[in-house]
Amino acid sequence: MPVKLIACDLDGTLLGADHITVSQRTVKALSDAHEKGIKIAVATGRTLSVIYNVMEQIPFLDYVIYSNGAAVCDLNTAKTVYKNFLPAETAADIFSFLSRYPAYFEFYQNGKQHAQKGREKFFTGMDLPQEFLEAYAASTVFHDDIMQFADKGVEKINLFYFGTEYYDEIKDYLFSHKGIDCTSPVSGDIEMTAKGVDKSNALAGLCATLGIDSAEVMAFGDADNDIGMLEFAGYGTAMANAADICKEKAKFVTLSNEEDGVAVFVERYALGKKPKLLVSACLLGENCKYNGGNNKNDKVIALKERFDMVAVCPECFGGLKIPRVPSEIINGRAVSKNGEDLTAEFTKGARRTLYIAEECGAKYAVLKERSPSCGKGVIYDGSFSGSLTGGNGITADLLIKSGLIIFGESEIDKLLDETGV
Ligand code: SF4
Repeated sequence: MPVKLIACDLDGTLLGADHITVSQRTVKALSDAHEKGIKIAVATGRTLSVIYNVMEQIPFLDYVIYSNGAAVCDLNTAKTVYKNFLPAETAADIFSFLSRYPAYFEFYQNGKQHAQKGREKFFTGMDLPQEFLEAYAASTVFHDDIMQFADKGVEKINLFYFGTEYYDEIKDYLFSHKGIDCTSPVSGDIEMTAKGVDKSNALAGLCATLGIDSAEVMAFGDADNDIGMLEFAGYGTAMANAADICKEKAKFVTLSNEEDGVAVFVERYALGKKPKLLVSACLLGENCKYNGGNNKNDKVIALKERFDMVAVCPECFGGLKIPRVPSEIINGRAVSKNGEDLTAEFTKGARRTLYIAEECGAKYAVLKERSPSCGKGVIYDGSFSGSLTGGNGITADLLIKSGLIIFGESEIDKLLDETGV
């Protein structure tokens, strides 16, 4: 199914560790997707006023599902296309209950954060960057009496209570309250919305409006308030840094937010791009080995489904013939079994291989283990007896020093884990 809508959670998903920045690779991937006609949405527990920095970084953003799904804004028309707010009497009851405790809480209304004046002193204990906390506090409107706002459409109430003394009684009351839904993305943080408010319901409502099937939706998340959305979307994808339950419920898992997990997945499944992978030609079945044979490996060949493979044979690039006398590394030099020093040919082949890697933009390589050219970490010891020693082949060594990440043919699972492809 082609992807028609991409919806991303923010913290721990689209944003980096600073809770502010969208990486350049992610912006590019989403921009390319948008140019293909795919709608882009963010789905966040935050309200509209605290995501303007995201809108600046992604100016082509189409929709914001905010306040955990209490509302959806169409940024192209600036209209609210979906809403489900707390009933006035329920909001008043929660305000009144939380006011009894030494805790900081806020509510969202009209896309802005509001809080009771005097409760700033409880805004402590959160392990978040200072810059983020300052921006957060500056965007909050403090009131003398919040009760007068209970009947004006409360999107969501957030409690930040990181003490232990009253935590259980607060949690018991809120989680057993019949008029609200509660989630706790992190311990001490309880988010309350009207019954039925969920990112997945808002996403489903948006899809119904747009005539998009759930199978055509790609969604990313990392916390328990994302689970419904990940189950709903055909491409429901958890980040590597997601809670375990989130990964269990998602259909896919991508790399973490700090490894451009959203971009990697969008490139692969929405844009159809495969990352380049340098591969020892003999592993692909090419008869370039010293004896005229090959080291064909079906698991390596199967990688062509996931990667754009670029075959290389450094010894051939160095001008060595097929067949040829085998060589091993002796005291850092490539020496053939009949004693000929072939270091210059091996080095020429290594440089040519690096040139190709840089030309095609490959960041990863799968190279033949133990070879005096391609081996990584362990190579034949120069005795031509089949004995091994620690060290790299000449090409593997140059590629590693140039920043490529090398895997042997026995490390395919590790390659897939690391690249998230
Ligand atoms: Fe295979 Fe590398 Fe030797 Fe070429 S140089 S035959 S690719 S191990």
